[in-house]
Amino acid sequence: MPKESLQQKRKRVRKIIARLKKAYPDARLELNFSNPLELLIALILAARTRDELVNAITPGLFRRYRTAADWANEKPAVLHRLLRSINFYRNKTRAIQKATRALMEKFGGQVPNRLEDLLTLPGVGRKTANILLGNAFDQPAIGVDTHVARVSQRLGLTDHTDPDEIEADLTQIVPKKDQVKFVHLFQWHGRRICIPQVPDCPHCPVNDLCPYPKKTKAKM
Ligand code: SF4
Repeated sequence: MPKESLQQKRKRVRKIIARLKKAYPDARLELNFSNPLELLIALILAARTRDELVNAITPGLFRRYRTAADWANEKPAVLHRLLRSINFYRNKTRAIQKATRALMEKFGGQVPNRLEDLLTLPGVGRKTANILLGNAFDQPAIGVDTHVARVSQRLGLTDHTDPDEIEADLTQIVPKKDQVKFVHLFQWHGRRICIPQVPDCPHCPVNDLCPYPKKTKAKM
């Protein structure tokens, strides 16, 4: 594909979004939550863990721990027992308790709704902060996870590998009103068709909009 201008890339990304919306009408964040604190906890638990595993334990946890103080004041050994089906549960217990203590100390126990504030929480990086802003606070934000990064690279929407630089590239070309949906669509596409090892290009709804040089071919 010849070098595209920013305008051309914006036009192509709009087409990609429209196609993926049709292909994945149910695309959404796959973690279950009902308030910003629950989403923060779910995101910490979901690091390098399948969302289904997190969703399997969060209903009981969210009934038991309703405030930042509930989480911060719990004995770590109790949380270890409740979280043991999740990998790295000891580290994640520590991360949850550090983050919820910071919420109590700096934000009155509430999850803040500004990027700069979220980034002050221990263990909260730009990906988590942007996913929180987009999904718990309905603000335009692009949280770059492994799927968003890979699919964006293959589709030629970024040349970068660093998530912060990918986010900056995408923020320039994805319309604000579509940014949260864009992340959901790319996550779904990256889990179903544009998978890591061998993408299923013959069945890809954006095949003709994708310059990926190693595309898989349809079998004759
Ligand atoms: S054509 Fe292949 S590489 Fe390109 S987005 Fe679709 S599945 Fe991914």
